[in-house]
This record gives sequence, structure tokens and C-alpha cells, in this order.
Amino acid sequence: MPELPDVEHTRKNLSRWMRGARIEHVATEDARIVRPKKPRAFARELADLTVESIERRGKWLCLSLDDGRRLYIHLGMTGWFVHDRPAAPSPAYERVRFDLTRKGKSERVSYVDPRRWGRMLLTREEPSVWAALGPDPLADGIDIGALAARLARRKKRSIKEALMDQSILAGVGNIVATEALWNAGVDPRAKASAVSTTQLRAIASGLRWTIERHLAYLAAGEAAKTDPFCVYGRAGKPCPRCGHRLARVVLGGRTTTYCPHCQ
Ligand SMILES: [Zn+2]
Repeated sequence: MPELPDVEHTRKNLSRWMRGARIEHVATEDARIVRPKKPRAFARELADLTVESIERRGKWLCLSLDDGRRLYIHLGMTGWFVHDRPAAPSPAYERVRFDLTRKGKSERVSYVDPRRWGRMLLTREEPSVWAALGPDPLADGIDIGALAARLARRKKRSIKEALMDQSILAGVGNIVATEALWNAGVDPRAKASAVSTTQLRAIASGLRWTIERHLAYLAAGEAAKTDPFCVYGRAGKPCPRCGHRLARVVLGGRTTTYCPHCQ
């Protein structure tokens, strides 16, 4: 499932492919992804518009269009974008196709999504899903005092679940939270309201470390031989820091790997 680093990587790609591009034609038949609009209306309304900029907040992308509207995009569980020549065969599971002209050249950007949990919301108003997002750790940075105040309101929840709450910090998912807490040496089961300021500083730096490492891995593409994770998905293997066996616990329905010795 795409988390902040994956969506940021997508934002960089879309900026290279779509910024300043004129949308010549849109093709989609997917009423679920473009809801509440009908696919035909969605395609017609986007035609002839120019993409001015592409922002990201948490796991949401936002394309600003030259008529003042915005296209909000969430990649769901399995969404991503593919860039190709217009004559190339369409990729499998293509759900929305954008035919573009940029700098006098015709290009194609396809939204691919096997499981169809993604969303594309074309609107002039700021949608509530975007307005409800907390600060983005990469774009906005992390204010320790404000974070502590928001965590204090989630007294009963574990720090791991609280970090994944999109209204506390936007974009942190299971992988980023698991890795950041390991980096910080903080037990994921600790109560959110009981985490000290020193621990919060360590978590903030752990989040930056995790996000930057993951972004570098995505930028390396095929050259990256192994995944960038230290503990995620590695229960039963030795902790890279202390050698103790990594354990697994389920918090808020999500499997979390941690080191019972140094976290
Ligand atoms: Zn350890």
C-alpha cells in the first residue's frame, strides 16, 4: 500500500510528466475511481485544461488546473502512474488514460490500479478528506509541541496507532511508523499520551530518517537491490542494532515488528 514516500515519488514523476501539459483527451470507464462524477463527464470536463502544479499532502496528490479546479488523487492500495508514448500498448489494469501535449510533443500518462481502491476527485472546493489531514512530516516538518498536544488527546491508543492517524501526521502508514519507532528506540505498544518529549524528538528524527531512506530507494529504481527496511516484515530475524530476535504484535489490526530488547 502506498505510503508517504511512494506518493512523494509519484508526485515527482507526475511533475516531470504533467506540469505545464495540456490535457487533450481523457479516457476512462471506471465509475468507482472517479465517483461521484460519471466517467464520461469526468473525461469531458478535464479535456483542454492545463496542469499548472502538483502538490502532495500525506497520501493525497492535488493537481491544480488552469480553470481553477483541482484534481485530488489517492492511490488506494495498488494505484500508480505509467508514462509512455501515445502509440505504445496500454498497460494492464489501466483505469484512466490522459493524452497530453507538452512542449509540442504528444505523451500519455496512464493511471493503473488492479484493485481499484484509488480515487480521482475533480472539484473546485477543498474536499473534507484533504482538509482533515494533519501536518505532512516532509512538506511541513514536525512541530514537537503541536504533536505532543495532538497525541495527548489520544490517551488510550498506542503510539504506533496514533502515528498512523492521518489527522495527527499525514502520510504515515504501517511501514513508516514501524521503521521510525525502531529507529527511535521506542516501544510501539507505549501509550501515545505517555511518550516523553525526548522520545518524541527521537520519533520525529526517526520519521525523517525512514522517509529519506525510502525515497532514496525509490529513486534508485532497478539499481536498488534490496528493500530499505530494517525491521518491517522481518519478525524472527535478528535486530540490526542489538542482534535480539525481532518480535511481532498486532496493533489496531496491523502487524507491527519491533525489537523487545532495544525498543
Ligand atoms: Zn534491538
